[in-house]
Amino acid sequence: MNDRTALVTGANKGIGKEIARLLAAEGFAVYVGSRDAGRGRAAVEEIGGGARLLVLDVTDPDGIAAAADQVERLDVLVNNAGVSPSLAPATETGTDEFRRTYETNVFGVAAVTNAFLPALRRSPHPRIVNISSGTGSLTWSTRPNPQFAPGGGAAAYRSSKAALNALTVLYAQTLAEDGIKVNALAPGLRATDLNPRAAGASGDPAEAAEGAVRLALLPDDGPTGAFFSWDGTPVPW
Ligand code: NAP
Repeated sequence: MNDRTALVTGANKGIGKEIARLLAAEGFAVYVGSRDAGRGRAAVEEIGGGARLLVLDVTDPDGIAAAADQVERLDVLVNNAGVSPSLAPATETGTDEFRRTYETNVFGVAAVTNAFLPALRRSPHPRIVNISSGTGSLTWSTRPNPQFAPGGGAAAYRSSKAALNALTVLYAQTLAEDGIKVNALAPGLRATDLNPRAAGASGDPAEAAEGAVRLALLPDDGPTGAFFSWDGTPVPW
């Protein structure tokens, strides 16, 4: 199984880089997706053996097609690239911010997934892992047990992750007959550039990456169309 391949989008830093590092350690040939070649190359060099650069901006249709052309077979796709432009509530969020957030967090996932489906279908055990967020859980956002402060902040980001959760369910249903498992991960609060609130927090991105790799390595009788926290516990939609 040493010829297993994986692609992690947005893998030049943060949680994505840690996922790529762990998959390489598992023996995968890992495509480190990066929209900037220089930043991607630096991550590839840091990860070392098994890692290779794939220039990929998930909002660029031509670039996605060119990247997909370079990958013959794909065993694992991790849709990790994400943006969170602000913490504003919906009432203070312009359509431009909604659009920019959805371009990466929602439309980008659909575009990359669709482009790499032929390569995934050539795998005996294909797996798709969508890096979502617990803040996209509608159950965790509402009564009786809200997990987040009320006020509806980060509306563009949180609603984009709720849409990503919906896509996870629908892709899983559509691809079930092909044996392609599709699950979503809530990585928990991690100290990365995306999350200024976590600055100084102890949330190690590598710990979240372990949860993603668990879903990437699911056995054939494992779940699909489900939402899990980084520690493997189910998250309500
Ligand atoms: P990060 O360090 O900011 O990494 C985000 C990655 O996405 C970067 O590599 C970035 O590339 C890439 N990216 C952004 N837009 C892209 C595009 N259009 N095409 C390709 N790559 C793009 O943030 P992170 O915390 O590791 O986030 C990774 C995932 O975890 C995201 O989906 C995020 O929503 C999710 N998440 C994070 C937390 C947390 O607490 N950190 C919590 C819940 C969920 P550049 O370097 O080029 O910008």
